[in-house]
Amino acid sequence: MAALRDDAVTVLGGWPRLRKEPATLAPRPNLLDYEATRAAFSWEAARAGLSGLPGGGLNIAHEAVHRHAEGPRAGKVALRWIGKDGSRRELTYAALASDVRRFARALGTLGVRPGERVFLLMGRIPELYVAMLGALSAKCVVSPLFSAFGPEPIATRIGMGQGAVLVTTPELYRRRVEAIRSSLPSLRHVILVDRGGEAEAPAGTVRWAELFDGASDAFSVPATDPEDLALLHFTSGTTGRPKGAMHVHGAVLTHYVTGLYALDLHEDDIFWCTADPGWVTGTSYGVIAPLVHGVTNLVVEAEFDAQTWYSILAAEKVTVWYTAPTAIRMMMRLGAEAVRGYDLSHLRFMASVGEPLNPEGVMFGVEAFGRPFHDNWWQTETGGIMIANYAAMDVKPGSMGRPLPGIEAAIVQRQPDGTVRVVDEPMVEGELALKKGWPSMFRGYLGEEERYRKCFAGDWYLTGDLAKKDEEGYFWFVGRADDVIKSAGHLIGPFEVESALMEHPAVAEAAVIGKPDPIVGEVVKAFVALKPGFSPSEELRRDLLGHARKRLGPAVAPKEIDFRESLPRTRSGKIMRRLLKARELGLPEGDLSTLESDERPAAERSP
Ligand code: AMP
Repeated sequence: MAALRDDAVTVLGGWPRLRKEPATLAPRPNLLDYEATRAAFSWEAARAGLSGLPGGGLNIAHEAVHRHAEGPRAGKVALRWIGKDGSRRELTYAALASDVRRFARALGTLGVRPGERVFLLMGRIPELYVAMLGALSAKCVVSPLFSAFGPEPIATRIGMGQGAVLVTTPELYRRRVEAIRSSLPSLRHVILVDRGGEAEAPAGTVRWAELFDGASDAFSVPATDPEDLALLHFTSGTTGRPKGAMHVHGAVLTHYVTGLYALDLHEDDIFWCTADPGWVTGTSYGVIAPLVHGVTNLVVEAEFDAQTWYSILAAEKVTVWYTAPTAIRMMMRLGAEAVRGYDLSHLRFMASVGEPLNPEGVMFGVEAFGRPFHDNWWQTETGGIMIANYAAMDVKPGSMGRPLPGIEAAIVQRQPDGTVRVVDEPMVEGELALKKGWPSMFRGYLGEEERYRKCFAGDWYLTGDLAKKDEEGYFWFVGRADDVIKSAGHLIGPFEVESALMEHPAVAEAAVIGKPDPIVGEVVKAFVALKPGFSPSEELRRDLLGHARKRLGPAVAPKEIDFRESLPRTRSGKIMRRLLKARELGLPEGDLSTLESDERPAAERSP
């Protein structure tokens, strides 16, 4: 093990625990004493860190930009953007607020009303941030989409969300949206961020520059109730369409508190969250939390490349870095030596989220950067970090840490009568549950009350994750209780992938699993049974892979496809993905009592 860069962290007995010496840490961590902070914490008192709107109102964009633009941070850099080609753009809080107001006003000019849904489909370009904060300022509901989605996931989400506005780029519009536009009657406006100066905007679209350039920025944030809807984040379940998790403006209090305690943000920080705002981490922590704290938020347009990332960390003097296990594992492949030669002396705190971070990943941080990666846990539904390893708290590599002050977490076991039993004994596996009522808790799944209701048992929100809690209150991730797939930190619903495969003329049935992968956690693997008249071939496999990629986009499409005569189903007709997975991995097949006895070839099934 390489020597630690300072004496703030010491390794005891192999690597079971990284001991922190809080008194030696500089700057002083915001959460110095976990127990004391937790005991004294109240959400009401935490609101003092926000400025609010008259009459108890809260608006995310007001807290993130407008209030800073009117105060001493007006001239401070809010967004520092580094483009794919190395170009740079900096926006101070005052400049960002002005652009944000201009966009909010433009929405009004287009006749877009508060509460209407504004979808964003772009790479990490400055306009994405302006549009998001502008729409929030105008009290529209923002739904960011990942730019690597294909037409199918885009159409499903805009359709479900009844999107009134889409902000995208000419290229993405042409490749992913134009063909589905007629299936989206709610979509009144498509705004194209035309950075290259396209000759003419396609019919039915308006150029960003046309709306924006020379327009007035006279706009003030209207009265916003903390319970007003702000964000619509789609997430995946095992069955059915994606779920639209609805979040309110009051969530900004969680963003503030987690920025303070879990990310330990301080006034002079240069913060870099590597997540894309198309996923919840990239919104809550790639946009909102750092700006609420008034720090400088670094935005990097390019995708992962270890050497590029190291040079950015060094050149930009990043102090707090929030990234993900897939990236950490890719860096590990190159070894700690690849980091040598970069001056990373400014880097103070490193955190990770989105998938299990193996102990080796935590220790790689120590070896390569002189700091452990601090794992934390949350999900789309929770809106913000719920469990974390804090700057001043000992790290147990492999553990997600302890609940945020203000959050009560427990391991529960579901009972036959629908209630849950809280497991008090340490290291007993159960479902991770959170006592409901924190500010960023999702307020519903769009149009699916029953699905939402089923997430709760009494006062507990049931997360769908299996975990354990040790005698010191640290939580340990065990796995998902359902069949959703986590690939490179992105949650993928098997049903969405299966549905796209089933649209191919050769496919009779399809089942999709997550196949363990040492770098990205899981890769999407599909099994298909063919219709009569089709037979398995390399060519057909390639055709199916291409079909899925075209419909779903590279982020969601399967990477592997195997042919099967038939797929195992329960007597009630459900495909047994778990059995396919067990067979694929050579694991015990488990309880087969519900397996349909004759796995008849798909061709013989009635449709
Ligand atoms: P998403 O809603 O896309 O953010 O995905 C949330 C899911 O990612 C959680 O329910 C977990 O299954 C997984 N996850 C998030 N953070 C962690 C973590 N630190 N360790 C293990 N799994 C995690």
